[in-house]
Amino acid sequence: MSISPIHVIGGGLAGSEAAWQVAQAGVPVVLHEMRPVRGTDAHQTDRLAELVCSNSFRADDWESSAVGLLHAEMRRCGSLILAAGDAHQVPAGGALAVDRDGFAAAVTARIEAHPLVTIAREEVAGLPPADWDSVVVATGPLTSPALSEAILALTGEGELSFFDAIAPIVLADSIDMDVAWRQSRYDKEGPGGDAAAYINCPMTKDQYEAFVDALLAGPKAEFKAWEHVPYFDGCLPIEVMAERGRETLRHGPMKPVGLTNAHKPEEKAWAVVQLRQDNALGTLWNMVGFQTKLKHGAQTEVFRTIPGLEKAVFARLGGLHRNTFLNSPKLLDASLRLKADPRLRFAGQITGVEGYVESAAVGLLAGRFAAGERLGRPCAAPPSTTALGALLGHITGGHLDGGKGSFQPMNINYGLLPAIAPPKRADDGRRLGSKEKGRAKKRLVGERALADIAAWLGGADVLEAAE
Ligand SMILES: Cc1cc2nc3c(=O)[nH]c(=O)nc-3n(C[C@H](O)[C@H](O)[C@H](O)COP(=O)(O)OP(=O)(O)OC[C@H]3O[C@@H](n4cnc5c(N)ncnc54)[C@H](O)[C@@H]3O)c2cc1C
Repeated sequence: MSISPIHVIGGGLAGSEAAWQVAQAGVPVVLHEMRPVRGTDAHQTDRLAELVCSNSFRADDWESSAVGLLHAEMRRCGSLILAAGDAHQVPAGGALAVDRDGFAAAVTARIEAHPLVTIAREEVAGLPPADWDSVVVATGPLTSPALSEAILALTGEGELSFFDAIAPIVLADSIDMDVAWRQSRYDKEGPGGDAAAYINCPMTKDQYEAFVDALLAGPKAEFKAWEHVPYFDGCLPIEVMAERGRETLRHGPMKPVGLTNAHKPEEKAWAVVQLRQDNALGTLWNMVGFQTKLKHGAQTEVFRTIPGLEKAVFARLGGLHRNTFLNSPKLLDASLRLKADPRLRFAGQITGVEGYVESAAVGLLAGRFAAGERLGRPCAAPPSTTALGALLGHITGGHLDGGKGSFQPMNINYGLLPAIAPPKRADDGRRLGSKEKGRAKKRLVGERALADIAAWLGGADVLEAAE
């Protein structure tokens, strides 16, 4: 008996992962991606799973980081996004960062080659036709206006939009390495063994103060009526951070701790601007945390006051973009289906998670839920003790309703996972200090999550599906 296909709309991080999971479960899938027929404000290619800004999947250590734990769980679930990320990583200290072109090309090739996937390059410009009985909507923060309007009409909920700001990229050979130096914070080694993954540009107190003044005075991109929605704190433009207080940047993206100026080891920098490698060739470097809504002319002028970047050539300047997401705790059921029309499932950033990894994680879950339903073997939600379960819990029920606009996009974090009591003593009987207890607690949360995800997967500790 032939199995009718599941339709996935949107071939970004979430849609690519969802389509992969559906196909790997043995169910045919049609993946509808509007690029290159219709573009978005941020995507630049026709590739699936294009990364629109940073090239980082963030920390990769399951013992000390919630997103690292999510990576580990996704690998165990046969995630295509993690497999392609691992295969195309570039040095980034303790983070998993990828060569964006190689990564997206690999995801596209794997999906194109899958015998159960059909790719339709078209915009779904309204609600899907009635004969699509199982659909995953993964159209992301830049969902096309026609589809957004149709969803809005169906849900009756106000669409929430705000600007995400993208960070500038600098050509490596335009950075003055007689001033800047290579080092990872606290010399932390990354997965590839590199402890000098970042380029650091030091600032004195006077230079920092002048820089903050220039940020505050520089012309900003104009506001539109629908911009009056609060920024998500994880992606604040630097000038908005500077407006919050003159020291804010020095305690955020420009913090100088854990770094020693290789040219002047005796001089402690007042602030440091970090750049992270953005492509495998090492020719492009991303200004870490430097999302901005400064006008392009002002960006060039202000960022060239940073020591080491006086002659910087910018491959891309920062900019601003829309974010679209549902009030998911109210609208979606526990398996990500729209209560008002359960044939529609949602996945990715449109569900109110934030970030590449989280979006792909929700795509992974939506794909498994949809495939299980189609095969008559419903897939239970992962336990709330896992990062996958915690993320799902946040978007489908964990959030306490604080009225309109109170549900905000969120990265995975330990606060979403149930607490666990830390040990009081080390294995040798010594009493643990508070930092050691904190580290031990994270490790225990990680161990519990990995055991629980293995049980959820039916005892298979590691799935090789994406290998
Ligand atoms: C400007 C900007 C900067 C960002 N920077 C970062 C960052 O640095 N780090 C980070 O982790 N996250 C960042 N994000 C968030 C990032 O977009 C998401 O984390 C991630 O890409 C979301 O995955 P997704 O699959 O939900 O959406 P996307 O990856 O955007 O994929 C959605 C896909 O749906 C397609 N589509 C849209 N409408 C339709 C339609 N009607 N029919 C068919 N196809 C359609 C789009 O073309 C796109 O390919 C940024 C977002 C923006 C907008």
